[in-house]
Amino acid sequence: MKASSTPTDTDDARRLRDAGLRVMAPRLAVLAVVREQPHATVEAIAAGARARAGSVSIQAVYDVLRALAGAGLMRRIEPAGSPARFEARVGDNHHHLVCRVCGAVADVDCAVGHAPCLVPDSASGYLIDEADVTYWGVCPACQTSELKPRGIA
Ligand SMILES: [Zn+2]
Ligand SMILES: [Zn+2]
Ligand SMILES: [Zn+2]
Repeated sequence: MKASSTPTDTDDARRLRDAGLRVMAPRLAVLAVVREQPHATVEAIAAGARARAGSVSIQAVYDVLRALAGAGLMRRIEPAGSPARFEARVGDNHHHLVCRVCGAVADVDCAVGHAPCLVPDSASGYLIDEADVTYWGVCPACQTSELKPRGIA
């Protein structure tokens, strides 16, 4: 049986050191929260970080997210009409499915696997490094609820 490689807090400490960042409780807490709740908003991350590490201000959470994203340990996505969301799944150029009804976000693998996975007919001289692909639609839960009569609690 192949051992699954579920990252742990110990791995996170090493990851921080490898990225040249000091290992601090709020950073470990934010990493753990974002791994448990992919595509979490800053508010959700702050709530989860407080549950793990005690009082952490929203400003501290922003600072941690900026440091982690800058070090490549975190990816920030911001679908149109949605607050910024963060995820720990980095480096695979995966894309996102976004529900137009409830805003739920799901990962979808990139068919190509590296950026940019789409190339325009003409790049107009630009050096392109990424195609930002977002698939919009209606999630399975919302498809089900849309079939039910409305106005019934
Ligand atoms: Zn939905
Ligand atoms: Zn994702
Ligand atoms: Zn792709």
